[in-house]
Parts: sequence; structure tokens; C-alpha cells
Amino acid sequence: MTRADVVRALNEEYARLREENIRRREARVDEVIAADPALEPLVHSGAALFQRQARMLLAHPEQAEALARQTRQEAAANDRALRARLKALGYPEDYLDPIYRCPVCRDKGYVGDPVREDCACFRQRLAQRLYDEAYMGTGSAQTFATYDESIFPDDEKVDGVRTQRQRSLAVRDLCLEYARSCPASIRPGLLLMGNTGLGKTFLLNCVQNLLIERGFAPVKVTGYRLFEAMRGAHFGEAEKEAEFRQMIGCDILLIDDLGTEPLMQNITREYLFTLLNERQTQQKHTVLATNLNHTDLMNRYGERVLSRLMDSMSVQTLELKGRDLRLFGRRK
Ligand SMILES: [Zn+2]
Repeated sequence: MTRADVVRALNEEYARLREENIRRREARVDEVIAADPALEPLVHSGAALFQRQARMLLAHPEQAEALARQTRQEAAANDRALRARLKALGYPEDYLDPIYRCPVCRDKGYVGDPVREDCACFRQRLAQRLYDEAYMGTGSAQTFATYDESIFPDDEKVDGVRTQRQRSLAVRDLCLEYARSCPASIRPGLLLMGNTGLGKTFLLNCVQNLLIERGFAPVKVTGYRLFEAMRGAHFGEAEKEAEFRQMIGCDILLIDDLGTEPLMQNITREYLFTLLNERQTQQKHTVLATNLNHTDLMNRYGERVLSRLMDSMSVQTLELKGRDLRLFGRRK
């Protein structure tokens, strides 16, 4: 895929997401009205108010300002009444607010009018896609056999003892050992940490490919895909719920890029904890890769999730250190 293809695909993805947002909100509207039919006029009051304003404006253009003010006040009053009623029914107050993943661009992917600029969320996704396109397209070729330590700088010590190459090799050996001995690995969990561009995804693919070679069927997802499944499960989407259950129940789960997914209230932390806890209780194998350090993980997910992520009894934590290979420019 060329850059233009990647941009087009990403734009289509945003368009689908917006449709999905609207569909989900409409489903909520139907649900709430079914629970309390008296709410229907209140839910649709916005449109009625503005239709009335438009009519009156035509008849009394000199009162434009007063009309607009009156409409705003009535809309605010309706909104307050709606929120109070939702709360009384046991729903969150903002249950019928517009739904979107990115509060900045509201999932349009750009900001600014009339001069459009890509939203930060779009830029971040695009960079990731282009990187994946360049380096990850060959995920199946990323094996311990093709692992090339010569791409790592070998000049200065990165942890006081070893150079980046030496440290990377040590981490590789432990990953190899983990994948070789699975399901008898000493600890069923493996957490790969380190900044971007140190080769975490490559190692994750090596582990995955060796496991496949050995006859296992590991499930690999990104943090974002996991989040989508968690969010879908939360909102009762059957397909996503099934996907999330599979992630909980599969024998070996690999999660790449944990920490790049959205942090959504009542979902991200809660469902991630459920997933990790269930898998740990059942002694299932889980391999995670994250750019976040200990403090970031703590701040983002809280103590309960962290205790599962870094539980030294059942998780081996490996940290890569050094210079970003993408900036270092030696990665082929
Ligand atoms: Zn955005």
C-alpha cells in the first residue's frame, strides 16, 4: 500500500466509526424510550425547538436575537429535565449525548474550519499504520531465526552493564525460552516493556511464530482491538462480546501496544482487569508489549490492574532499553 492508500483506508475507517457512533446512539434512544415512552418528546425536543425558531424567525426577523436566546434557554431546560429523568431511570446522565472516541475531532479525523488540519488522533494512527506497513507487513517473517542483533547499537552501555545489543539479545533469549517451553513456562505471563522502536513488536511476532510452529494457536491483538472488543462487550454488541470472551478464554493471548487504546470510563480499566484476572486465575499464557513504563502503567490503569500486569509470581517482566531503531535508521 502506498501512503495515499493508507490515508484512504484510515479515512474510511473514520467514516465507519462515525456511522457506528450514530447507530449506537440511536439504539440508546430507542432503549430509553422503550423504558419510558413519556421521554420521547423530550429526546426529540431539540429538533422541534429549532423548527419553531426558524418559523418564528421568518415571521419576526427583528426579534432574531431574543428568539435565539429563548431557544437556547428552553433547550438547556429540556436538557436538564432529560438528564434528571435518565438518572431517575438508572441511566448515566450523559447516556444520550453524542458518542465519539476522540473528543477533539469527534471522530472526523480533522479539526479547523475552513482550514482543515489532521487531528492528533489521526496523525498518530497514520504514523502507526505507515510504520506497520513498512516493518510489520512481514510479521510472519519475523522469527527467532531471522532476528538480527546487528541492527542494535553496540557502542555504549544502556543499563550500566550491557550495550543495547547485549541487552536486546538477553531479552530475546528469555522470549525464546518462554515460547519454547510453553505451556510449561515457569511463569505464564510475559510483559515486554520499553520505548517505541526497540523491537518489542518484532519479538512478539517471534514468540507468536514459534508458538504456531509448535502447533499452538495463539491469538494476537493490539491494545486498540482489545479496547474495541471491551467497549462492544460493555454495550452489549454480540459480536464484540464473543470476541472479548475469546480473548479471555484462549490458551495463549498476545497483546501488542497496550496503552495506545483509549481510556474510557467504566470500560478500559475494568474490562482489562477482568481479562487479566481471569486469565491469571486459569493459568493461561499472556504476552503483553507496552511502551509505557511502570509509572505510566500505574497512572493509567491503577493499582489493581498493575498488580495483575506485573505480578512477579506469574509474570516475567522484560525491559528493552536504548535508542529508537526507527530514528537510528539502521532497520531494514
Ligand atoms: Zn481526533
